[in-house]
Amino acid sequence: MAGGVESKAPAKAKVALIECPDYDGELVFSALRRGIDLLGGIARFARPGEKILLKPNFLTGAPPEKCVTTHPAVVKAMGELCQKNGARVSFGDSPGFGSARGAAAKSGVAAAAREIGMEPADFNTPVQVSFKDALIAKQLVLAKGALETDGLISLAKMKTHGFMRITGAIKNQFGCVPGIRKGEYHVKMPHTRHFASMLVDINRFLKPRLYVLDGITAMEGNGPGSGSPRKMKVLLLSSDPAALDAVFCRLIRLPAQYVPTMAPAAESGLGAIADQEIDICGDSLSRLACPDFKVLRQPAVSFDHSFPLYLKKWITPRPFIDGSLCENCGVCTEVCPLDPKAVKRRPGDRNPLPVFDYERCIRCYCCQEMCPSGAIAIKRPLLSRIIHR
Ligand code: SF4
Ligand code: SF4
Repeated sequence: MAGGVESKAPAKAKVALIECPDYDGELVFSALRRGIDLLGGIARFARPGEKILLKPNFLTGAPPEKCVTTHPAVVKAMGELCQKNGARVSFGDSPGFGSARGAAAKSGVAAAAREIGMEPADFNTPVQVSFKDALIAKQLVLAKGALETDGLISLAKMKTHGFMRITGAIKNQFGCVPGIRKGEYHVKMPHTRHFASMLVDINRFLKPRLYVLDGITAMEGNGPGSGSPRKMKVLLLSSDPAALDAVFCRLIRLPAQYVPTMAPAAESGLGAIADQEIDICGDSLSRLACPDFKVLRQPAVSFDHSFPLYLKKWITPRPFIDGSLCENCGVCTEVCPLDPKAVKRRPGDRNPLPVFDYERCIRCYCCQEMCPSGAIAIKRPLLSRIIHR
């Protein structure tokens, strides 16, 4: 109140930034509880008798120390917090390659879930839904388990991402699209802005109640599957995924406008991205910031099928294979969403490595994301490097 007049200023989006030094179970539990209390308490997100779904990031499944997946200690602590408040809790994610069950086992989440009696949800059965208020995706195909819940809690991993620059709160819900259908979205929406709008639509449709970002040890560099672990010692929590991702950007000094999901998130009302609209509570952002975090610091280049080929060649970063790391497993060919594939071994070719057809390649980077050997990196063409030094 100022001079007896109540302020009409809209409430700011609240993001809890909580320092947590490592994955010790008790430390993670207290850090999560502290963040949730700052946001209003667990009863805001999981009430007695409710069916709550936890949505970690499994990608393809990898041991926790690789930092590819949401750490099992974070999933377990969140499950316990919900259970202590009387909720029934399940978990699920659909990996981009391989089975959901296998990915959960490899990540350590399946074992952690068993310890507290948390069941896997059905992330294999696809269900088509209509979304009339969508920015772009009026029809969505989502996993049955993501729909059959009273409340969804998103447990994302703090990582870099070739296509979307970062994978944080908003991108995490792409795992609610079952299996290979993810590739179909890449083919239908190769333009980064369209793809980002579709990710925003999934969040607007599913409306997770709470978003948590596991950045205790994040992944920098060649993420989201083959980067390097980087200790950030933070958990971020918010009911606003755009604000949470904006704070992630501020922590790593990445201009938020380089992240394609930010603009459609703000324009559609999914959340706030401007500094003055976000209230960061908990620990100090300047103390925990990591300005030299290795992430591609340039705008995502957008193109679609009509983009002139000569420009695509000179401007858009391309995937390339490091032959010394490639184990010729064929995963890149399998996950490439194009038909015919834009990466494959040429019949009769004596070179055992897959080769790219860069003219066809839509730069979705699914191959780079899923390569189990870290053999695919993203290379910026000379012109792109000159424009964005
Ligand atoms: S997925 Fe990676 S390791 Fe497997 S063939 Fe492709 S580049 Fe080689
Ligand atoms: S080759 Fe790789 S980047 Fe190109 S379309 Fe296929 S999966 Fe996407």
